[in-house]
Amino acid sequence: MLQLEDSKCDLLITGAGPAGLMAATWAARCGIHARIVDKRGTKIFNGQADGLQCRSLEIFDSFGFADRVCKESNHMLEICLWNPDETGRIRRTDRIPDTIPGISRFQQVVLHQGRIERFFLDSLKEYSDIEIERGVLPEQLEIDHSKAEDERAYPIKVKIRHLDDDEATPVQNGTNVPDGLFRSSLAKDDTDDLIRKSRGKEGTTEVIRTKYMIGCDGAHSWTRRQLDFHMQGEQTDFIWGVLDIIPITNFPDIRMRCAIHSAESGSIMIIPRENRLVRFYIQLNEVNSAGQQVDRSKITPEIILKAAQKIMSPYKLTYDYCDWWTAYQIGQRVGNSFSCDDRVFLAGDAVHTHSPKAGQGMNVSMQDTYNLGWKIGLVVKGLAKRSILRTYQSERRRIAQDLIAFDHRFSRLFSGRPAKDAADEAGISMAEFKDAFEKGNMFASGLAVDYGASILVAKPGDSADQGDGTDVGPIINSIDKVVGKQELAGNIKLGMRFPSFQVLNQSDARPWHFGQFLKSDGRFRIIVLAGNLKDGKQWKRLQGFGESLAKPDSFLHRFTPSAKPVDSVIEILVIHSAPRKQVELLDLHEIFHPFDEKRGWDYEKVFVDDVSYHEGHGEAYKNFGVDKESGCVVIARPDQYVGWIGELEDVRDIDRYFSEVLIPQI
Ligand code: FAD
Repeated sequence: MLQLEDSKCDLLITGAGPAGLMAATWAARCGIHARIVDKRGTKIFNGQADGLQCRSLEIFDSFGFADRVCKESNHMLEICLWNPDETGRIRRTDRIPDTIPGISRFQQVVLHQGRIERFFLDSLKEYSDIEIERGVLPEQLEIDHSKAEDERAYPIKVKIRHLDDDEATPVQNGTNVPDGLFRSSLAKDDTDDLIRKSRGKEGTTEVIRTKYMIGCDGAHSWTRRQLDFHMQGEQTDFIWGVLDIIPITNFPDIRMRCAIHSAESGSIMIIPRENRLVRFYIQLNEVNSAGQQVDRSKITPEIILKAAQKIMSPYKLTYDYCDWWTAYQIGQRVGNSFSCDDRVFLAGDAVHTHSPKAGQGMNVSMQDTYNLGWKIGLVVKGLAKRSILRTYQSERRRIAQDLIAFDHRFSRLFSGRPAKDAADEAGISMAEFKDAFEKGNMFASGLAVDYGASILVAKPGDSADQGDGTDVGPIINSIDKVVGKQELAGNIKLGMRFPSFQVLNQSDARPWHFGQFLKSDGRFRIIVLAGNLKDGKQWKRLQGFGESLAKPDSFLHRFTPSAKPVDSVIEILVIHSAPRKQVELLDLHEIFHPFDEKRGWDYEKVFVDDVSYHEGHGEAYKNFGVDKESGCVVIARPDQYVGWIGELEDVRDIDRYFSEVLIPQI
């Protein structure tokens, strides 16, 4: 077998599903040398995951492609709950909003995984030369543990093999993936992906030496097996059927998301999709395994349809067009560890699996690598300390555990038989189900994520818990611990993502959602809620803050490479609350609107909480829970999570925060 020359890279990603693509996107934005390999010959074109939560859309917006998703997707606004009446006939019993109103500038949408992967691929092309190397199988992994802490080392050695076409084409439900290509109505611009990057290298092997590696290779993760890590939890007996069809039906809520509990025939979740498609999630009672291996060949679209017809009776349901279908058994499991030496990491389905009903799989998987990608990027570039990588496991393993607990509770309520009356203890109370659904909506939105104390989140509490209850030593030195002042900003929570409300640009009066300025470009941000600048005392406080930052030995200068613009590692954004017309941008200290010899002043860093001409008042200070007179200062991490909150005079604390995280450049 031909052996290609050894090569080196900063980051090797195995698996180009949603988790792998998110990791590659961060690598592209941080400008590090990454490779991403996938054993499949092509991307997927239809089916699989489809729901996108608010938080995922906010993340897409920070990368610049949420608008494409919003345009093509189906928008989910209402959930209808259907339950049996006293005669056993299903009736609509409730309508609730799909997304809790006001929690985000986005609402949940659905679009199939293939399209979402397409947006990532286009973004990669725009910002980097990273291409997915398809039909490539990693075969051997070696880690030199003795070099794990050596920042310049390439301690990971991976041998890969370029597969031929037959090997790279997976069989799915008895049909090949390309079969899905002509069946999908949204696949026009995917043709290029059929031409594998590795073409011409089939049958060859190659050794890649890399600094970091992320195993995003799905539920059967090869990377996880090489590390000898395992999944903890249960394999349930529940078999789920999934059907993507254009339904022909007289069911009145077919274009709403519905949870239907029938009296005796089980439950169904209906998800209206793009292009008239509708997804049905059905628990297949007839083929539940009862501890035995299931014969999947017995499961067909007809069986799934029949189960749906029974649950939805007396309404009629048939179809002429089926876009995709599948059936699978649910395991509710979490990996025992997410990282080896903080060099090789696992993400996505490789470390958590659960039921599909709450639409979490793809979202949580992408958010794993959204948490990790910038950390690796900054460490590889020599800007941040390696110790920040330890927060990946402490932050994300806990989320995975919460997800499994949520899924466990929700599955029981969804799959159970409805109680006939209050005395029917074996049945599920529909009031309890509705309550769980409403509460679950906050969790499912992705906005309930609240990271614990660490060097990246200056909040009270012990930071040593790695998300598995194991104490692996302090991530921060508790004597010197910086703690943010949560009381200054009631609704900007330490450890949670910075919320977004409408503000106006000071220079041109245009209204923006502030979140649109928190781009995923690898920069930390100091958000200065400067308060009422018409008050002389407050004005002086802000100018004093500016002078501290501008000093040559300030943290801003120490952590920024001297050849780079002053805002290239930490960007400073201001939102003040004085009337816009009474403040002049250029009167503010220059550090708040830096000057560039070729581009002039920066007009996109100072905003105001004031009324707009056409789109009302965002009431940002009120919504942030921040005092309009005295304001406060917030540090947002590159992933928009709040790291620290303090006052304009707390420059020393900001310095201490960054001193724990970043590496001096001078
Ligand atoms: P994946 O999307 O699984 O991506 C893993 C990637 O790694 C794949 O591209 C694979 O080819 C590649 N890979 C695997 N092994 C190797 C290897 N050894 N070397 C190199 N590459 C490798 N979620 C829902 O919410 N609703 C659904 O209806 C639903 N249906 C699903 C049906 C199926 C058949 C599957 C597999 C998943 C389904 N999911 C569904 C789950 C959802 O797709 C996942 O949660 C989500 O895709 C996780 O993203 P990921 O990137 O972690 O893993």
